[in-house]
Amino acid sequence: MSKKDISDGLRPLFENNRAWAKRMLKTDPAFFDRLAQQQAPRYLWIGCSDSRVPANQIIGLPPGEVFVHRNVANLVVPTDLNCLTVVEYAIEVLRVEHIMVVGHYGCGGVQTVLSGQRLGLSGHWLHHVEMVRHTYAKQLDAIEQPQQLVDRLCELNALEQVSQLCRLPSVMNAWKREQALTLHGLIYDIHDGLLRKLANPVSSPPDLARWRKSALKSIWSGKSPR
Ligand SMILES: [Zn+2]
Repeated sequence: MSKKDISDGLRPLFENNRAWAKRMLKTDPAFFDRLAQQQAPRYLWIGCSDSRVPANQIIGLPPGEVFVHRNVANLVVPTDLNCLTVVEYAIEVLRVEHIMVVGHYGCGGVQTVLSGQRLGLSGHWLHHVEMVRHTYAKQLDAIEQPQQLVDRLCELNALEQVSQLCRLPSVMNAWKREQALTLHGLIYDIHDGLLRKLANPVSSPPDLARWRKSALKSIWSGKSPR
């Protein structure tokens, strides 16, 4: 592919970009000058890489307001240096006050696990979702409706990632030094564009057990978010 083809392929995006920057400056002439000085987001979003789940747009925040980490199936893996670095930086340097773990219905990663497909590297990554499925195998196996099965595993996966997050040293240390930090387990519905809570937020270690119990009760009672 020639240089010309490459630039032609991105031409609409450059046009969008210029139009966007112009609009931003029109609304707020100091916008980029201010952002260039520093970022001070209050939120960290940990979500799926799925193109239908863009953090800023969903929560209506402009650049500079939310720190974002995304990977396939919104996983918090204690050996994933990328995720650990983002969380540590968000807490210790940016001093975010809220971390949202955002699962979403119709997650391709979750569906792949349920389909039993095994795909090279992604199979290795999705092993973490497989473990969630395994943990709740008894309840999940009793679900007959395929859509419900995917929905429940999407919710359970988000819940388990909040649990993983609570146990990370950077989170535990923040709570130990009484830094204000609240964790939220959320699920996004690609059918209506709405975010829903899995349970009330967690803001200290003793909350976690209560949080899990309350989220699981909601998921299995049929009063789950969706
Ligand atoms: Zn997904």
